[in-house]
Amino acid sequence: MICMFSWYSYRMGEELEAEKHVNYILSVEKKKNDFESVVMEHIRINGAYWGLTTLDLLGKIGAVDSKDVVSWVLECQHESGGFGGNIGHDPHILYTLSAVQILALFDKINVLDIDKVSNYIVGLQNEDGSFSGDVWGEVDTRFSYIAICSLALLHRLDKINVEKAVKYVVSCKNLDGGFGCTPGAESHAGQIFCCVAALAITGSLHQIDKDLLGWWLCERQDKSGGLNGRPEKLPDVCYSWWVLSSLIMIDRVHWIDKEKLVKYILDCQDKEKGGISDRPNDAVDVFHTYFGVAGMFSFSFKAKSVSHMQQLDFLSSFF
Ligand SMILES: [Zn+2]
Repeated sequence: MICMFSWYSYRMGEELEAEKHVNYILSVEKKKNDFESVVMEHIRINGAYWGLTTLDLLGKIGAVDSKDVVSWVLECQHESGGFGGNIGHDPHILYTLSAVQILALFDKINVLDIDKVSNYIVGLQNEDGSFSGDVWGEVDTRFSYIAICSLALLHRLDKINVEKAVKYVVSCKNLDGGFGCTPGAESHAGQIFCCVAALAITGSLHQIDKDLLGWWLCERQDKSGGLNGRPEKLPDVCYSWWVLSSLIMIDRVHWIDKEKLVKYILDCQDKEKGGISDRPNDAVDVFHTYFGVAGMFSFSFKAKSVSHMQQLDFLSSFF
C-alpha cells in the first residue's frame, strides 16, 4: 500500500500529519477508560475497524497484535452468527460488517464459520428485497449495502436475491439523482454512498443517472472547500469520504475542487497530538480521523489511474 502514498508529498504549505495520526489512534486504543472509549463501548467493533483501517492506510497495521484483535472479534460473535458491537452485546448487521472487514484486513476471514455468518445476513433480507438491521426489523438502504458488501467479502453474494436487493435500492432513488434510506426519503450523502456502492458491487451502476447524481454530489462542496451531507448543512470531514467515494464510483470526482478539499481536511488536523476533527478546531475522534485519511487516500488512489475494477475492489474492501 505504501506505493500509493503519493499524497504524502502533497504540499500546499502543509501536509498530512501521518505519524501523529498513527500515534493518536494507538493512544486511543490504550486509554480504555476515557470519555471517547466509554461512549464508544457499544460500537467498539466499528471503532476498531476505523482505527485499524487508518493504521493500515498509513502503513502501520503491524503496530497492533493481530492475534489479540482476531480473538476479540470472534468473542463478539453471537450464537445467531451475527456480531455485537462488543463482547456480550446484541448482534446487528452494522457490527457484522465491521467484524468481517477487520478479519479481511488481517486476511483472516477463514477463521470464521462463513456459512453461519452469511446465513445470519441472508435471514435479514425481506420479501421486497430490502434488509433489516437486526431482529427488530428497522429497514434502511445502509443495511442493503452492508449485506451486499459483507457477502461479497465472504464470497456468498449468491445466497441472497440480488435482483430484488438491487430493485429495492433503485426504488430509493430520488428525482434529484440521490438516494434516501427508504423509498421517498430525502437524499443524503451517506445513503448515496451506500446505494452507489451496493449497485457498484452488484454490477448495477447503469441504474444511476451519473450526471444528475454527480451534480448533486459536487454541490456538496461549499466555499470552505469542505463537503456537507445535504443542502444547507455545515461541511464535515466525514463527508469527504461519502461524497468522494461516490463520485469516484460514478467517475465524476473531477467535478469538485480537489485542492480546496485537501486544504479543508488538513485544516481539521490536530497538528500537535494527531487526529482529525469534523471541522477546523473541533475535538478530534477516531471516526473523523479515519474518514479524513480515507478521503486523502482516495485522491491519490484515483491519481494512480488504476482500473475501474481495482477501484471498486478498494472501495468494497475498505468499506
Ligand atoms: Zn462527521
